[in-house]
Amino acid sequence: MSLPSPLYTVAALALLCAGATAQSAKAAFARDPKQPIDPFYTDKIRRYTTDPSFLSPLVATLPASKTVPTPEKVLGDVAGAPDMLPYAEDVHRYFRMLAESTPRVRVFPIGHSEEGREMIAVAIADESLLKEAEENKQRLAQLADPRSLRTSDGGMDDAKAQALIDSTYPVYYITGSIHSTETGAPTALMELAYRLAVDDSPYIKYIRSHMIVLITPVVEVDGRDRMVDIYKWHKAHPGEQWPKLAYWGHYVAHDNNRDAMAMTLNLSNNVLGAYLDWHAQVLHDLHESVPYLYDNTVGDGPYNAWIDPTLVDEWQELGWNNVAQMQSFGMPGVFTHGDFDTWSPGYLMFLAAMHNGISRLYETFGNGGADTEKRILQPEEYSRTWYRQNPPLPVVMWSQRDNNNYEETALLSTLSYFAQNSHHFLENFYAKSKRSVQKPNNEGPAAYVLPWDSAETNRQLQLLEVLQRQHVELSRLTEAVSTTLPPAKAGQKPTAVKLPAGSFVVRLDQPYSRVADALLDRQYWAPDDPQKHPYDDTGWSFSELFHVKSLRIADTGILSAKMSRMEDISGLAGHLSGSGTVVAIANTGQISLLPLLYKLKDAQVTIAEKPFDAEGKHYGAGSLLITGVSEPELTADMKALALDGTRLAATPTVAAHTAPRPRIAFMHSWQSTQTEGWWRYAFDHAGIPYQYISTQTAAAQPDLRSKYDVIIFAPIGHATPEDVLNGTPLYGNALPWQKTTLTPNLGGLDTTADTRPGLGYEGLQHLRKFVSQGGLLITCEDTAEFAIETGLAPGVAVAPRKDARVVGSVLNTVFVAPDHAVAWGFAGAQLPVMSADGLAFNISNTLGRAGNRILMDPYAQRPTGRGSLDDSDVVQGQKPSVPEVLPKQQPWEARALDEDQTRNNPLVIPALFRPEVILRFSDAKTMLLSGLLDKAEPIAERAIVVDAHLGAGNVLLFANNPIYRGETVGSYPLVFNAIMNFQYLQRESPAGNPVAAANRWLPNGSAMDAK
Ligand SMILES: [Zn+2]
Repeated sequence: MSLPSPLYTVAALALLCAGATAQSAKAAFARDPKQPIDPFYTDKIRRYTTDPSFLSPLVATLPASKTVPTPEKVLGDVAGAPDMLPYAEDVHRYFRMLAESTPRVRVFPIGHSEEGREMIAVAIADESLLKEAEENKQRLAQLADPRSLRTSDGGMDDAKAQALIDSTYPVYYITGSIHSTETGAPTALMELAYRLAVDDSPYIKYIRSHMIVLITPVVEVDGRDRMVDIYKWHKAHPGEQWPKLAYWGHYVAHDNNRDAMAMTLNLSNNVLGAYLDWHAQVLHDLHESVPYLYDNTVGDGPYNAWIDPTLVDEWQELGWNNVAQMQSFGMPGVFTHGDFDTWSPGYLMFLAAMHNGISRLYETFGNGGADTEKRILQPEEYSRTWYRQNPPLPVVMWSQRDNNNYEETALLSTLSYFAQNSHHFLENFYAKSKRSVQKPNNEGPAAYVLPWDSAETNRQLQLLEVLQRQHVELSRLTEAVSTTLPPAKAGQKPTAVKLPAGSFVVRLDQPYSRVADALLDRQYWAPDDPQKHPYDDTGWSFSELFHVKSLRIADTGILSAKMSRMEDISGLAGHLSGSGTVVAIANTGQISLLPLLYKLKDAQVTIAEKPFDAEGKHYGAGSLLITGVSEPELTADMKALALDGTRLAATPTVAAHTAPRPRIAFMHSWQSTQTEGWWRYAFDHAGIPYQYISTQTAAAQPDLRSKYDVIIFAPIGHATPEDVLNGTPLYGNALPWQKTTLTPNLGGLDTTADTRPGLGYEGLQHLRKFVSQGGLLITCEDTAEFAIETGLAPGVAVAPRKDARVVGSVLNTVFVAPDHAVAWGFAGAQLPVMSADGLAFNISNTLGRAGNRILMDPYAQRPTGRGSLDDSDVVQGQKPSVPEVLPKQQPWEARALDEDQTRNNPLVIPALFRPEVILRFSDAKTMLLSGLLDKAEPIAERAIVVDAHLGAGNVLLFANNPIYRGETVGSYPLVFNAIMNFQYLQRESPAGNPVAAANRWLPNGSAMDAK
């Protein structure tokens, strides 16, 4: 059954195969002439294919079976038929029918979505293979974790591995429809499964007898059902525009394919669970956005820096081979080199790359539904290039069946290639797994260590949970150990460091060392990299973004330190010590202080406004003092939230205010719900209650303040202020998002009869009144720009970025106002933040345009004239006079105004209402932590978190996204602090009544309660 040849021979054969396939495609993929075909189904395939060149011999006919149902049984028509999309449940029903009718198919539930819909994996192979699937898994498990093959001298027993390889079948895992608007994969995979189970063509028989094909036909099951609803609505309303898919999954849309790092979504965890349970060699994800088939297996550079080089060879081998095969069938528009770089490990398929497998992704051509449509391509899509000599046609009539033909043909031919070379790929799998275990002694490092630090435990646990979701093994030092850190710069000496007992160790002599290394390390994207269009974020360093100290240790001695494996991390925090009636919880930037307030509904909780010391321990400002709660209740909550506390004999003497349980509203725009979805995820996950409203709700509610204390207007995603106000143009018909009998899966999260109207000027006025009356409005990125442009944030402007370049990078920041409530718990430390594009703010003491620099002075220091920089000019014929000294102003500061500039100037903002800068970027030299930063000067040291004052309330503006893709846990407390202290964000007013002064900012005619 196998080719016991050395790797290089197999690789050489593989390259030859590509050429050989081209000449003998017909023979290689010939059908069994003795097997009857299904004439009706076959006829429909031909009818629904819009051009003969979009069909291949592999899918032109469908073999008939007396016992196994074709997809028609569930669909009522053939796979890829026009005008019809099946729900996830119908797709699953078909696979279960297959499993009932043939021993070559088995269905396994792999978990549920956030909304409770089931996900499945379907295994297809000869009955004999499936019968011993468990034994095969055990063998693969040994190849996946070669520590089980360790010899007494510390090496690996390669001979034993070879014997395992000789008796083992690989597993090829295909996933469909993660992106809900990309609708073709489920039907293509239904038919593919039928063919794999029924077809007696020699090449299919070979696949069936040499490997297990695993299929998850619908990854995003929640989004699929909503998309089918939308499509049904469209078919029921001919001639009308149809609603956009406002929600895909429960939390995010397209970003569900950016979750493979933080692993926050059920679909990521379910797919990784299935992938690792089967110890699959490939994870092949199906997408639809490029004509006609972009196999981005080869993609473009820069490739991820933490993968095994063998994987790169496998990408080249599989990608180019697949293109050659498709070419041999005469199918136009297939290519594998393209603009997708493989730098970020955030894509679902990349779970395989980070776990010693092979990641692959197809982009085929989808119509976003099942309509057959005329498609007009752009020059960059139809042009002939060196890697696409047979490009797609400029104009084409395109059907879902065409799409299914491409998906199935490419998959069948690549499965055939994989089956023919199964031995080779298993050998690679073992080699990659082995090298992952040997990482400390090869390229290193040996381990990452998070030093034990009770102030960081709460966030450390968040990071350790991510690593556990990645199936990374964790350990803990049982005694202190000394080791060395590599020199910071070449030529310097290593630094000795002592790690306390209890420190967390991520050993890299384990099978999944690569994903730990990729997540915890720093990234560097050269500004002059030939790739000018990074596909996604360039930096993600989790140690930085979770704001925990993480040491990259190259010294392999650390691996012999005394440590124990840590399976359960739940009991590491949540302790209550001391005795007394007052419980103090120090604020050290935990993410669960705000959730605790909501859990302790009836307790008296106060928040210290200044630091204090009590019973030998120091407490920073923002620490909690709790009384009036039963100990069992408190300890249970503290354990659940990983918070440590100390009982004190008496309430410490410190300025404190009662902690509110603010009434929070999440306000979303109907234009896009994805980026705010990540915020919702964080709030739900933490257990912070909120009401979910839209900008339309705000437009309809004149008295928002009576309902809410805090309104969160999380980022929409590149929305302009005009988009926020006007929404979608009202030219055409209404676009509803409602649960009806026709669309049972819409509604749910939020509902509207027409998604088009935006906030409007009424809504803007309501928001303005809400803030003026003491509410807190939290804004970020585009919604912060909206607040600035619409006058909700007096004195704040967007800093011109000029030629500064940032693409999803981790940048360093400095607290400007460490005593501000938003900064509590950070102890004035520097804070790494995620910056999408280098957005930053300028601050001014006056209102105005042009970057709020209405008092522009062309001279930063002194005008041209006599003398030197430190001299004054002397005007001839005039007695020398002394000019006012120009006050020195930092980039994050507002320019000081002199007497002349403030006289009779209605644009001057009263001191009480001037914006406060809380956080700024560090200087240009120290700003980059991870990713790409080029020409940093224009944004260096500029403000990025600003508290703007409007009436009696506040508008908090974030230029960074503090709650992003589950990756930025370190900056969550900035948002949570603001909410916890929303009533205490006013500037100190030594004289005068802030409310009276605030009335100046009220909308005309609306009065305000003095409270
Ligand atoms: Zn996609």
